[in-house]
Amino acid sequence: MEDGDRQHVVLFPFMAQGHINPFLALAELLRRRRPTLTVTLVSTPLNIQNIKSSSCPPSLSSIRLRSIPFSPAAHGLPPEAETTAAIPFHQIVTLLHASQSLQPAFEQLIEDITQEDGRPPLCIIADNFFAWSFHVARRFGAFHSIFFTSGAYGTAVCSSLWTHLPHRKTNSDEFPLPEFPDTIIHRSQLPKDLLMADGTDPWSDFLQRQISLVSETDAVIINTVEEVEKTGLRMLRKVLPCPVWPVGPVVSSPSSAIAGNDHIMKWLDSQPPASVLYVSFGSQNTIAAPQMKELAMGLEASRTRFLWVIRPPVGSTSREFKPEWLPEKFEERMRDAGTGVLVHGWAPQLEILSHASTGGFMSHCGWNSVLESLSRGVPIVAWPLSGDQLYNAKMMEEELGVCVEVARGNMESSRADRVVVEKVVKEVMHGGQRGKEIRRRVEEVRGLMKEAWTEGPGSSVKGLSEFFRAAASMRGAAMKM
Ligand code: UDP
Repeated sequence: MEDGDRQHVVLFPFMAQGHINPFLALAELLRRRRPTLTVTLVSTPLNIQNIKSSSCPPSLSSIRLRSIPFSPAAHGLPPEAETTAAIPFHQIVTLLHASQSLQPAFEQLIEDITQEDGRPPLCIIADNFFAWSFHVARRFGAFHSIFFTSGAYGTAVCSSLWTHLPHRKTNSDEFPLPEFPDTIIHRSQLPKDLLMADGTDPWSDFLQRQISLVSETDAVIINTVEEVEKTGLRMLRKVLPCPVWPVGPVVSSPSSAIAGNDHIMKWLDSQPPASVLYVSFGSQNTIAAPQMKELAMGLEASRTRFLWVIRPPVGSTSREFKPEWLPEKFEERMRDAGTGVLVHGWAPQLEILSHASTGGFMSHCGWNSVLESLSRGVPIVAWPLSGDQLYNAKMMEEELGVCVEVARGNMESSRADRVVVEKVVKEVMHGGQRGKEIRRRVEEVRGLMKEAWTEGPGSSVKGLSEFFRAAASMRGAAMKM
């Protein structure tokens, strides 16, 4: 047994599905690898209730779930805004600001845990949006760590862009990043909020503060793999003063009980191997109505089987599906031909990506989607929409060679072209020269991800051990004082 065992670890994710999922997977991983560890996951009441009612893997039953009070209404948000999925994208910045009010309740919870256990937790592992929690850790003498649920390259690029706003200092369409002169960003790779940022807007205000607070943490663990993200990790280590340990891929195990989704899995069962393109833009982003039509026409023209998770387009006030978002009789045509299925709302993504019939993923390139896809050997057709997604796509295309970008953004000005959709989908799905090369690279990356968790030499095994060694040595030092 190592020093980190028989201890209590508190996990504190931001309330967005793309953050809660990897934190739950981390909780599962910690319990699996160190069964004597007590793991508590903290979130707001609605999120804890959602976790309890979802079909979680059995190993999660050993995770303690604790809720702390949060009142979105006190910040001008609707009551259900305890999770980003419940609000439109533009309100997320308000939720980020509001989430800072969780500090007193979080501090009280750590106080309660300390009373119950007779000693403070060994460490607090918090979201980077909750970097302020290092104040709480200091008060209790606990080791503090940030768990980045994003990739190293995307994190380093976003941090540099938001800190320096370099696009405001040039008229050029392309410009290098101040700390990383080899990294050239194109203006079209800037999300709307960053394009409009001037350093005093709510996004800059929140992000610049959090970025500088991250440098107070004792250590960073990150959901990536040393051998897969060499460049990104070099960049991140250049700007962070603390150790950075990759511990990825941290991905949940697919759940065996998938209530209400039998029809999707049955349809997949009846398709040829690696023939289906899974299309999804994550838990909170959608594309614009004209883009949906171009995508539909491109998919139809490519004659590729597909499973498309469809949600209301950007700006729509309707939560109900409207056929006019798509070309006339599109859904019926696809259904009758048996070539395409529309999933309205939410899909069992991990199960779909793990299915032998799935041969490609048209993705917005949220980092969890990237890891879930590559760790299952599924190549990506990238359509990044915002934030780090744009840089995840850039890194995967330019450095890893595991994806082809088909379109970028969901603003009025962002074009999507049915001809490009058709061409790229055919290229990736129907075994052209480039498609074959991409599949070869994806297999290599999948191998590297697997090796990272092999006992002994695996880089993520080592990363996690070093992390616990550092936490335990800080605890040892605190006890001697
Ligand atoms: N997800 C899912 N079903 C959906 C959409 C998303 O299970 O229909 C899950 C997906 O597997 C991933 C997370 O939600 O774990 C989305 O995280 P990601 O980082 O890919 O994107 P985000 O939603 O944060 O933009």
